Amino acid sequence: MVLADLGRKINSALIDLSKAPVVDEKVLDALLKDICAALLASDVNVMLVQRLRNNVKKSVNINEMGGGVNKKKIIQKAVMDELFELVDPGVEPYKPVKGRPNVFMMVGLQGAGKTTTCTKLAAHYQRKGWKVALVCADTFRAGAFDQLKQNATKAKIPYYGSYTENDPVSIALEGVDKFKADRFEIIIVDTSGRHKQETELFEEMKQISAAVQPDSTIFVMDGTIGQAAESQAKAFKEAADFGSIIMTKMDGHAKGGGAISAVAASQSPVVFIGTGEHMYDLDRFEPQSFVRKMLGMGDMRDLVEKVQDMKLDQNKNLMKNLEAGRYSLRDMYDQFQQISKMGPLSKLMGSIPGMPADMLQGSEEESSKRFKRMMCIMDSMTDAELDGDNNAFEKDRSRIVRVAQGSGTSVHEVEEILTQYTRFAQMVKTMGGKSGLLSNMPTDP
Ligand code: GDP
Repeated sequence: MVLADLGRKINSALIDLSKAPVVDEKVLDALLKDICAALLASDVNVMLVQRLRNNVKKSVNINEMGGGVNKKKIIQKAVMDELFELVDPGVEPYKPVKGRPNVFMMVGLQGAGKTTTCTKLAAHYQRKGWKVALVCADTFRAGAFDQLKQNATKAKIPYYGSYTENDPVSIALEGVDKFKADRFEIIIVDTSGRHKQETELFEEMKQISAAVQPDSTIFVMDGTIGQAAESQAKAFKEAADFGSIIMTKMDGHAKGGGAISAVAASQSPVVFIGTGEHMYDLDRFEPQSFVRKMLGMGDMRDLVEKVQDMKLDQNKNLMKNLEAGRYSLRDMYDQFQQISKMGPLSKLMGSIPGMPADMLQGSEEESSKRFKRMMCIMDSMTDAELDGDNNAFEKDRSRIVRVAQGSGTSVHEVEEILTQYTRFAQMVKTMGGKSGLLSNMPTDP
């Protein structure tokens, strides 16, 4: 089951819960059954699923709850907390320090996306103002140096490698020493992979690691490998003792289970995910935002960061509103407009609050079409409706029908936007303000 499907299944189980007239043991069991089935179908390890189930049951003791308690809220929170827990090992990843060399060593199997990810990561730090360089110590795969050279040149990142030297340890050491002497702040070392986990690969990794003494070893894992993720992550953890994970190929159709199981097996955090073959297709990974996006709740921090990265400065009003814990339909509309200028759409969809999970599926063209429909719907709303909260629609439901007619869409689609909007506005209200959502925004890396 792909990520968007997993999100939709969990979401619909939570919606079923919110509609249940009475919340009792039976309703809770049905909810957990649906959520667990969805997680299993996404290749999440069975023990983890069992743990989630038990923990929710333990933290929500329905029989002992008093009459005045909002059981639905408590259950929803318990489920969300457990979902966050699944992808959060509670370990802080390495944070590079300004003004001194920080050596990153990338490890992983051949084809996982190591070389591609090296440049993506280098470009990420370069955009943030770090002095970055790349070292190619992959002497095993023919063409690895050429690939890195090509990518690095495109991104204007200095690189080091050799066509003649075939000892990866010497190359790695020479490259790192050279860039250290030249006062580079982030030095990323690409190492060889093999088709499968073998002693020779692990031995080489250990030697390179001993030579360059990395500040951070990052395990690059193909996010599409499903059940195999657990054993692969375990084996690399034992051999290379990596500190964090970058999960690649997490584009629209990837399963979520790999990431979840790898985190659990290695107790190491995922720091980034690769979402495509291009240089910018690297997203910071944060457990809460990953889960929220998966459930179609959007992620404001991610969106704000992307807007900042693209040097767009049209979100001042939005920032002001968020700080005050306010979020209007107009804010949502403005964001949609900004997003449509930022393209490619499918890469940004998940960040938009109010974006239903199934919007993330399908081709760029399909996403773009669905996105335009949502814009049309909001174009058919009056200024008062956009600037207020959705009270206007609650008071006068005939407006929903009229907006649907005016935009050539369906009542269901309008309702869906309003539901997503309400959910996010509520989140802004409870999490917003100076001490909340935005001030917790990571600044770097
Ligand atoms: P390496 O052998 O680990 O160095 O792997 P490469 O960097 O050569 O990548 C192997 C293949 O995976 C290439 O075709 C890459 O374009 C592709 N790839 C890497 N990362 C991603 C990603 O995040 N998404 C997609 N769709 N493809 C990726």
